[in-house]
Amino acid sequence: MNNVVELNDIGMKYQSLNGEIPALEHISLKVRQGEFVSIVGPSGCGKSTLLSIVSGLLRPTSGSVFVESEKVMGPSKKIGYMLQKDHLFDWRTITQNVLLGLEIQKAVTPEAKEYAERLLVTYGLSEFGHKYPSQLSGGMRQRAALIRTLVTNPQILLLDEAFSALDYQTRLAVNDDIYAIIKKENKTAIMVTHDIAESISMADRVIVLTRRPGTVKSCHTIIFGLDKRTPLKSRKVPEFQTYFEQIWKELDVHV
Ligand code: ADP
Ligand code: MG
Repeated sequence: MNNVVELNDIGMKYQSLNGEIPALEHISLKVRQGEFVSIVGPSGCGKSTLLSIVSGLLRPTSGSVFVESEKVMGPSKKIGYMLQKDHLFDWRTITQNVLLGLEIQKAVTPEAKEYAERLLVTYGLSEFGHKYPSQLSGGMRQRAALIRTLVTNPQILLLDEAFSALDYQTRLAVNDDIYAIIKKENKTAIMVTHDIAESISMADRVIVLTRRPGTVKSCHTIIFGLDKRTPLKSRKVPEFQTYFEQIWKELDVHV
């Protein structure tokens, strides 16, 4: 079986003082090994809730989640989570930040340290290992945050609006960067964003969610006639605009 993630009829209701808040309904989704799936939907439709459920941090009210054929009952080492804020600690150097996940897992071995060092070298941060986060640009910080996530060697990466704190130019560059790293390391990725262009430029498949309670509205397989696809190149081909207009209409962003 090559479905790495499988969601079966997921539903989520939050309890609040004013009663139940239905956040998600009837979400089913299969993600293959190495696939990059992005999920777009209006603000508050349940995107973050969905990723938290995949990560095992949040238990759905109904339905089940499987990661590599195992039922998800709680957080697992197979999953790496990247958030909007890079959450690098200012008082730790980049190397110390990158090793944080391993320290938490009590897994700082010489091999793991070597792997961390190799990732820093491969992705252009080797000279910054002794620097502090404040000495790095926004794009470099985001790369360091991804390396920290990769060091524990998760098979699946979850990205929650991971680039939205960056300015537009930086974000385009970081999209390319992170995309290349994820593909090179052969990871499976699920990214949620409200940015349609970002979702199309990076994903093999875009899932559109409805307003809350989020349900799957549509699913688009993204194919560009490009030799070597990168997010930046994708944005420049004619098909990009076609996908964009279609998804834009479906998202119904008018308020
Ligand atoms: P998105 O990431 O798409 O913006 P979220 O998954 O954060 O949406 O939230 C979906 C809905 O569930 C929102 O209406 C939000 O207010 C509500 N919600 C999220 N977390 C909680 C919570 N812990 N308790 C009650 N309601 C929540
Ligand atoms: Mg969110």
